[in-house]
Amino acid sequence: MSHPEQHPVRPLVQARNVHKSYGDNNVLKGIDLDVNPGEVVVILGPSGSGKSTFLRCINHLEEMDRGYILVQGEQIGYQLRGERLHRLSARAIARQRRGIGMVFQQFNLYPHMTVLQNITEAPIGIHKQSRQEAERYAHELLARVGLSDKADAYPRHLSGGQQQRVAIARALAIKPALMLFDEPTSALDPELVGEVLATMRDLAAQGLTMIVVTHEIGFAREAADRVVFMDRGYVVEQGAPEDVLVDPRHPRTRAFLSRFI
Ligand code: ADP
Ligand code: MG
Repeated sequence: MSHPEQHPVRPLVQARNVHKSYGDNNVLKGIDLDVNPGEVVVILGPSGSGKSTFLRCINHLEEMDRGYILVQGEQIGYQLRGERLHRLSARAIARQRRGIGMVFQQFNLYPHMTVLQNITEAPIGIHKQSRQEAERYAHELLARVGLSDKADAYPRHLSGGQQQRVAIARALAIKPALMLFDEPTSALDPELVGEVLATMRDLAAQGLTMIVVTHEIGFAREAADRVVFMDRGYVVEQGAPEDVLVDPRHPRTRAFLSRFI
């Protein structure tokens, strides 16, 4: 009997030995993480453990001190020429960053722009798409996040949950290969959290590659392919949600999760 050939997938994200300090505060102490195409990785961990800093290193909002991160095989911020690493130009870094969408706790929509203008601003201004094409895709994205009727609304007329869904559509407008979410529901009133998580669950089901920092254990259980527990600058434990969330091995993971039960 023949065996199907194994084609190892190349991870979309490969982080190796990532270190980052602020002064003498060692925030990241050697983070290793692979994320495969289509995978949804949820990062859990106490406040101050370095989760945001790590996400910010992935899209080069922060520069790491040691280690490296490859996204789609390209090293973020650097290029290997011959034997030597060269720092990329601001322009080349901006190009890399465009492959990565990010959604923050604070949605920061442009208040003077309509929802449609918020979403099409980058595709038209930076990617030089035609207005027609950018608007066509923006309407498609608004349908995906359940806001088809809000294209002409201004952010101040939307609820927090609706604004965050617009922020997600805006991040998707550049067709990122990878989406980073940093506590996207933490600033929302409790009754608005569900609609944002539902949108994120849909995106996960559609095969988008996502790294999500959240304290929403339910989302981790239902939507994550893998849960990563970070504490004090280390990845302490990772694995399938049913393992890490139900039967964590590390005492610090157990202590953290016990707060949610
Ligand atoms: P988390 O997202 O897990 O709560 P952060 O990555 O935000 O953790 O922060 C980790 C540590 O790094 C904290 O001690 C925080 O005070 C520090 N830190 C984060 N950003 C900066 C910065 N820009 N300058 C100085 N210290 C920072
Ligand atoms: Mg954070």
